[in-house]
Amino acid sequence: MDYQALGLKVGLEIHQQLLTHKLFCDCASRLAEEDDGIRFQRRLRPTQSELGEVDAAAIEEARRHLTFVYEATANSCLVEADEEPPHHPNEEALDVALEISLLFDAKPVREVDFMRKIVIDGSNTAGFQRSALVSLDGAIQVNGKRIGVPTILLEEDAARKVGEKADEVLYRLDRLGIPLAEISTTPDIASPEEAREVALAIGSLLRATRKVIRGIGTIREDLNVSIRGGARIEIKGVQELRLMETYVEKEVERQSMLLDAAKELARRGGGPVAEEGVDLTLLFTASQSKVVQGALQKGGKVYGWALPKFAGLLKGKLGPELAAHARVAGVGGIFHSDELPAYGLTQSEVDAVRKALELEDHDAFVLVADEEAKCLHAIEEMLPRAEYAVKGVPEETRDPRPDGTSVYSRPLPGKARMYPETDVPPLRVHEDRLRRIREHLPERPEAAVARLAREYRIHEQQARQLVQEGWDDTFELVAKEFGEATLVATVLLYHYPELRREGLGVDAIPEDHLRELFSLLKAGAFAKEAIPDLLREMATSGGRASEALKKTGVQGLNRSEVERIVDGVLDASADLIRSRGAASEKGIMGRAMEKLRGRADGKVVSEVVHDRLQKRIREEKGKKN
Ligand SMILES: [Zn+2]
Repeated sequence: MDYQALGLKVGLEIHQQLLTHKLFCDCASRLAEEDDGIRFQRRLRPTQSELGEVDAAAIEEARRHLTFVYEATANSCLVEADEEPPHHPNEEALDVALEISLLFDAKPVREVDFMRKIVIDGSNTAGFQRSALVSLDGAIQVNGKRIGVPTILLEEDAARKVGEKADEVLYRLDRLGIPLAEISTTPDIASPEEAREVALAIGSLLRATRKVIRGIGTIREDLNVSIRGGARIEIKGVQELRLMETYVEKEVERQSMLLDAAKELARRGGGPVAEEGVDLTLLFTASQSKVVQGALQKGGKVYGWALPKFAGLLKGKLGPELAAHARVAGVGGIFHSDELPAYGLTQSEVDAVRKALELEDHDAFVLVADEEAKCLHAIEEMLPRAEYAVKGVPEETRDPRPDGTSVYSRPLPGKARMYPETDVPPLRVHEDRLRRIREHLPERPEAAVARLAREYRIHEQQARQLVQEGWDDTFELVAKEFGEATLVATVLLYHYPELRREGLGVDAIPEDHLRELFSLLKAGAFAKEAIPDLLREMATSGGRASEALKKTGVQGLNRSEVERIVDGVLDASADLIRSRGAASEKGIMGRAMEKLRGRADGKVVSEVVHDRLQKRIREEKGKKN
């Protein structure tokens, strides 16, 4: 796809957890496996911002009528429960945020003022998130291109959603309050690939501080995507870097599709959609559709809603968009005319609906079957979305899905959601504090790449990959101690991803276990060909390298043992040797490796096979003469 022609613009907002205790209390910054048995409930309401407006996203959340239930954990206190005011801000977290700012060449503010940002999806017990601007006007160079970093913020992480029911959401308080650095880029990213590269570069720069938390979920990205004629869409909370490109690609496809649909609607003279649905329950009293039967049995209704000129534009296009809005009202789903008859609904029922709604050829309809209030609410939610269809792409926030697509979650929050935090004092940023941080700035990723390549004689591309993927510390620890730098790099960059694809948790192998593996290799306890098998066993059992060695039966053989096994192979291959002579070496090597793989170095086996085979051929010749 020609992204330049489409006018693709992508900006990133990266949230990175900082390696220190929580921002407004002394609780530890980690996730808890379980809650500590204490739960409490809240309902949240939108409030006016400083500017006297009420945020659209907040209003929509409030319409969902949800109750929020919170699980306390060992690392939460009265601050997370919003029963106690925030303590003095974590100065160490501010130091890290300032250090990150200097690495991005951003200009720190003189005074850090915490604000309250209205968040009423329940993820903050207080109904707002505390957030402070730390620096402005930074940048990062990625493949020679300057990507602006206009703002860096220090803020508190939200509570973690652990469950969801029809009108209740369950959150755990372990994550609430963990300090986050938020790094925003300008929308100068022009392709899906570049989005991933910029995210990688920012991740490397953040890790360079050695003061950020590592692991899945500790760095989360919001993607802002738009194409020419489309609109800014925020895909919120992407954790899987490898899917970044896909999220951008799919969003470009979606916006292009919506623009095409808008053009087609305009061409057909698409007018206003019906303001209200019509109660069509009487047409469905004998319906065979399970969804309809289920709704009618609990006293519900079937509502029809006319969408003039929408025929053919719903299936795989506007249908899923409308359905996502209907779900805000709590209905399971909708039926639309592009996909009917189906789902137990018959052609004669479809005909009856078309007649009742007075539809013509190009017209479409939607059916909602549920409690009457929910039906009406669902149509009310879908109405503005359907009206927008003729314009194109509405701005909105979307949730990432594991397949690289995304789904509507709420309107894009406006600027109306900030107001000052009066419980936290402003923090002055003095010049001597900045000087102290500037004097101890860590090695930048590009410098680390060059140094690793030089000191360990590995390929620069390998060094870059180690740094980008965050393996540089592990690599250096092991390679410094045991040598074998190329092998260590191969393990981290080649064997690990292979085993990860098998679904094995290689990333959880402790550095100590990896060091032990290389110390055993160095001592000749096994040959390097056995490494993948040993890692597989270590990742599966979580055990040490020595245990894996015992369990897999992999053991190193000395040269005379190798010679003995190779001799056995030569005996068994006598016919082959007689017929093919020296040309049999490759085949014999294969047979020998079958018996020796992982127990002896391939190079040693190859030498032994060559020498012993030559000897046999000479002996054969001797006999013939
Ligand atoms: Zn706490």
